[in-house]
Amino acid sequence: MRRFQTTAVHAGREDFTELGVHAPPMDLSTTYPVRDLAEGGESFSALVGGQAEAANPIYARLHNPTVARTERAIAALEGTQACVAYGSGMATLTAVLMARQAHGRHVLVVRPLYGTSDHLLASGMCGLEAEFVHPEDIAARRRDDTALVVIETPGNPTLDLVDIRAVVDAAGDVPVLVDSTFATPVLQNPANLGARYVLHSATKFLGGHGDVIAGVVCCAEEDAAPLRTMRAATGALLHPMAAFLLHRGLPTLPLRVERAQANAKELARRLQGHPAVAAVYYPGLGTVRNAELVGTQMCGPGTLISFEARGGHDAAAALMSKVKLMTPAVSLGSVDTLIQHPAGLTHRMLDEATRKSTGITEGLLRLSVGIEDVEDLWEDLDAALG
Ligand SMILES: *Cc1c(COP(=O)(O)O)cnc(C)c1O
Repeated sequence: MRRFQTTAVHAGREDFTELGVHAPPMDLSTTYPVRDLAEGGESFSALVGGQAEAANPIYARLHNPTVARTERAIAALEGTQACVAYGSGMATLTAVLMARQAHGRHVLVVRPLYGTSDHLLASGMCGLEAEFVHPEDIAARRRDDTALVVIETPGNPTLDLVDIRAVVDAAGDVPVLVDSTFATPVLQNPANLGARYVLHSATKFLGGHGDVIAGVVCCAEEDAAPLRTMRAATGALLHPMAAFLLHRGLPTLPLRVERAQANAKELARRLQGHPAVAAVYYPGLGTVRNAELVGTQMCGPGTLISFEARGGHDAAAALMSKVKLMTPAVSLGSVDTLIQHPAGLTHRMLDEATRKSTGITEGLLRLSVGIEDVEDLWEDLDAALG
C-alpha cells in the first residue's frame, strides 16, 4: 500500500505514461459519437443504472471522463470504493438526502453544522423530517423510517468534535453521513470508522485555491450507484473544468494542511494569551467538546480556530475591518488565511435560540488559517486586535 502523500500525488494519474500525457486530459464534450448502436444502448443503460463507467460516455450528464478521474483520485484519498462529485457541497448533501428518501423520511441530525446544511435540513425543503439530537440520544430516537444520521466533525463554527465510532454504533443499521470538510482526508477517514457516506465541500481544502465550487461524497460502490442514477436524472453535475482544478489541488493537499495546521497551532496558542481575546476554541488546545479525539479519530487538530473577541459584536466587526493580510471573507481551506463572523454571515439563517445553544455568539470569529508565514499572520492579527 502506498503512503498518503504518494497517493495524493499519483491517484487518478496512474495511466498517464501509457496515455503519453503528464497532465490530466480535459474532456469538454457534451455528447459522444455512437457508431455502434447496440453498444451505445448498453452504455446508456449501464450509466443510467449507476455504473461508474461504460464503453461510451454517451452524454456528459451521464458520464464525463475528467470528472470520473477526479472522483477516482478522491476515493483513493478517503479509502472508499467510490466517490461521486457534484457542482457544490450543498448539491452533494441534497443528493444524498434525496437518495435516502427511498428508505424513509426521518433524519437524525447532530448540531452544530455548516449554516446552510442546518438551514437545508431544518427547513424541510427536501421533503424530510429532520430531528436535531445530541449524539447520546441517537439510539433512543431511531425509528423504522430513519433513513440517515447526519453529523459534522469538526463542527462548524465551534470546532466541537463528534465521536464518529460512537455515533455509528448508536445508529445501528441506519447509515451515518459525516461531513468531514474541516478535517480533510489528511486528518480523518470516517469510512474507516464505519461512516457510510463521507461528504466534503471540495470548494474548501480539496480545491484549496479559492477558485472552484464543488462537492463530493465518498462511499461504497453499492451506495454510489443510486447516487449516480439520481445525478444523471437531476443534473447536479460538476463541470469538467472544475474537476480538473480540483484534481490539480490534490497533490499539495497534505502539504497545505500540514503547513496550515502548524500555523494554526501557533496562532491558537498566541491568541489564548492575548488580552483582547476572551476565549479560543481549537481542538489542539483542548477547548472544544471531545478534544481527546485528536490523536485517535483525527490525526491532528486541524487548521481552523474560532475565538471570542472581548467586546462582542462591535469588537468582532472592527477586527474584520482592520485585518490587512488576512482576507475578511466566508469560506475556508484556501492557501490564504480567511476570517469571518459566523453570527453575521455563515450562520445568520439560524434563529437566535439555535445560535445561542450552539455557542455562536456575537463576538465569535472563525479563522481559516492559510499557509503564509506565521509571523506575518500574527503581526496582522495582533495589530487588528489593537
Ligand atoms: C462550505 C461547506 C459546505 C457547503 O459546500 P458548498 O461547496 O459551499 O456548497 C458544507 N459543509 C461544510 C462543512 C462546509 O464548510
